[in-house]
Amino acid sequence: MNMPKFFNTLTRKKEAFKPLQNNLVRWYACGPTVYNYPHIGNYRAYAFVDLLRRFLEWKNYKVMLVMNITDVDDKTIRDSQKQGKTLEEFTRFYEKGFFEDLQTLNIKPANYYPRATDHINDMVSLIGELTLAHKAYQGSDGSWYYKISEFLDYGKLSGLQQKDLKAGASGRVAADEYTKDNVSDFVLWKAWQPDDGDVYWETRLGKGRPGWHIECSAMSTKYLGFSFDIHTGGVDLKFPHHENEIAQSEGASKKPFVKYWLHNEHLLVEGKKMSKSLGNFYTLRDLLDKNLKPAAIRYALIATHYRSQLNFTFDVVHAAEKTLDRLQDFLARAKEADGKNNPGLENAIKNTKKRFEDALDDDLDVAQALSAVFELEHQANKAMALGHVSKKQAERIADFFWNDFNAVFGVLEKKSATVPKTVLDLVEKREAARKKKDFKAADALRNQIKEKGFEVVDEATGPRLKKT
Ligand code: AMP
Ligand code: ZN
Repeated sequence: MNMPKFFNTLTRKKEAFKPLQNNLVRWYACGPTVYNYPHIGNYRAYAFVDLLRRFLEWKNYKVMLVMNITDVDDKTIRDSQKQGKTLEEFTRFYEKGFFEDLQTLNIKPANYYPRATDHINDMVSLIGELTLAHKAYQGSDGSWYYKISEFLDYGKLSGLQQKDLKAGASGRVAADEYTKDNVSDFVLWKAWQPDDGDVYWETRLGKGRPGWHIECSAMSTKYLGFSFDIHTGGVDLKFPHHENEIAQSEGASKKPFVKYWLHNEHLLVEGKKMSKSLGNFYTLRDLLDKNLKPAAIRYALIATHYRSQLNFTFDVVHAAEKTLDRLQDFLARAKEADGKNNPGLENAIKNTKKRFEDALDDDLDVAQALSAVFELEHQANKAMALGHVSKKQAERIADFFWNDFNAVFGVLEKKSATVPKTVLDLVEKREAARKKKDFKAADALRNQIKEKGFEVVDEATGPRLKKT
């Protein structure tokens, strides 16, 4: 098995991927803040995680994936209060919506989805360790801050220079989100303020709540240890979130935190990042309401290289839908193929798998991988039209599409899943009629099924449906 290469934000180059422990991949992916339905820009990040995860599993790595749920921060508190709900009631609603969306997009579940509010003690302990290491202090406002001048590597991920640090190091930021212009000591624990209402924990750090960054350091270490293999998130998280995670985790453990940092680029709308604050967003539900198919949305999200920006339009999803319909038709035809053996196809079948793997090994080069897939489809289609593909060859081609291509891309549907329930019910009724030897009724039902666009083929194993 060839070793894949991934672009590591930390070293700014493509590196051979070698997990710290044999073939076990320990991976932390920054998850959603559950204060609203995520938009499809967010789902680009999660679809990227899923593509990478499926690829690694396809290559026989064992993946241990942890994705956090941020259920306490400025935004969840603010919006739960607006709706007059408790933080828990409010965030659980959107957490449920998030899991439903993941299923819709055929995103495999992570091994753990730790919630921030279930790990307050771990965060308090970590801040305690940072205090012992002289990296955390309590400000005059009662909140606890990280002293970035005490961590010499501060800036190594996002490429900040020491001079940038000095400029801002005298100040402090209490907000979770800020830009590089405001590099400064950042908040670890926020002392309670009247705006927080009933959201607080009484701890040895005082009455308050955690900052956003400490949540991910505490939960990643709890589930994956001090040092692990992969950390992912969108490019906007490089600074300050991931920079601060490194400072917190390495500041406390004195061990390297993450070996490979992978960041996905943004999904854009008319040249701008899709975001809640700009108001230029669609949720997954918005797109489903417009009759766009989940598999096509998923394809649109993953078919552009994860480190390139993706300009989102409905046309992109429509084109994805066409591509997938074409592939499904091709596979349906391949099922029927029973022509003569075609020696010319042998090399194509072998090479496609190799090209597919080589492309994905190269930092998930989906464009190259897909072009190998489409070339095989094209060649086999032409040959099938001439009756020059044997049943065995067609089976091997289908095997590549299902067990290689689809194992990684997750966009094809087994045909029965796309047959409407009304048709399945008619097939069942027809079977019952046949069993009773009522062939007149069975034929009438066959015609009804035909009117709905399907043909029943009776095989030794039972009836099979073919789209007409
Ligand atoms: P948030 O819930 O805002 O913390 O974001 C969740 C994930 O979505 C993070 O990994 C973000 O970097 C990512 N993200 C946010 N907006 C976009 C976008 N427009 N395109 C791609 N990823 C995004
Ligand atoms: Zn995070």
